[in-house]
Amino acid sequence: MIHLKTKEELELMYLSAQLVSKTLGMVASEIKPGVSTIKIDKMAHDFIKDHGGEPAFLGYGGFPNSLCMSPNEQVVHGIPNEEPLKDGDIISVDCGVLMNGFVGDHAYTFEVGEVSAEVKELLKITKESLYIGIAQMLPGNRVGDIGHAIQTYCESHGYGVVKELVGHGLGREMHEDPQVPNYGRRGTGKVLKEGIALAIEPMINLGTDKVRFHNDGWTVTTRDKQPSAHFEHDAAIIDGKPRLLSTYRYVYEALGIQSDEEEPFLYKK
Ligand code: MG
Ligand code: MG
Repeated sequence: MIHLKTKEELELMYLSAQLVSKTLGMVASEIKPGVSTIKIDKMAHDFIKDHGGEPAFLGYGGFPNSLCMSPNEQVVHGIPNEEPLKDGDIISVDCGVLMNGFVGDHAYTFEVGEVSAEVKELLKITKESLYIGIAQMLPGNRVGDIGHAIQTYCESHGYGVVKELVGHGLGREMHEDPQVPNYGRRGTGKVLKEGIALAIEPMINLGTDKVRFHNDGWTVTTRDKQPSAHFEHDAAIIDGKPRLLSTYRYVYEALGIQSDEEEPFLYKK
């Protein structure tokens, strides 16, 4: 059952989503060659606590850390470790926060040092597909419209769209109805309505769409070991329009990136 949110609930969700956004901004300034993912995980844990939130991933289904950190061929759910990041790596960072009873869930794939042009393009197209998906969040559209838009765009660039992992409804629970696949057919699936809140999260592979689930119960990698990108925003239909609850503003401030990509979807200026 889909829980449509009231304006008051969306206001609280916005605060949770903003805290994950600020956490990813802090992470952005720490990611560089030589740093271990476990060190960044610890910093994120403390940052979330210091700002009045709880790390929502820690202990979720037994997950051991506050961040999912998935380098290179890891798609999602990577467990932070002592391994130092290397120049040319990419690292997908997924962060969850619980605050005021509501969850924020937000991800960004960072470049470590200088990455290849081919991988840069994968990141660019994956992030663009996220906004193309969010643009479909209009009253009367359906869940399949979101997936169709993301899939069509990414496959037109020759990328593999992961099918076994999907986006989701978001609210008091991290995973609520409906599931939001990054593929689909237009005009199919649940109808989108005012107050629906979704975590939309394309997971896009440079090569094959096929993935492998590892024995640690978490790590997911591409079958062909080529890189995978993951970007995730929290968005809701508010006053009949798609509105972002999360933002990459803090990531971009940390990295010195200029962008107006969020402009059409701003909930608050
Ligand atoms: Mg996430
Ligand atoms: Mg999610």
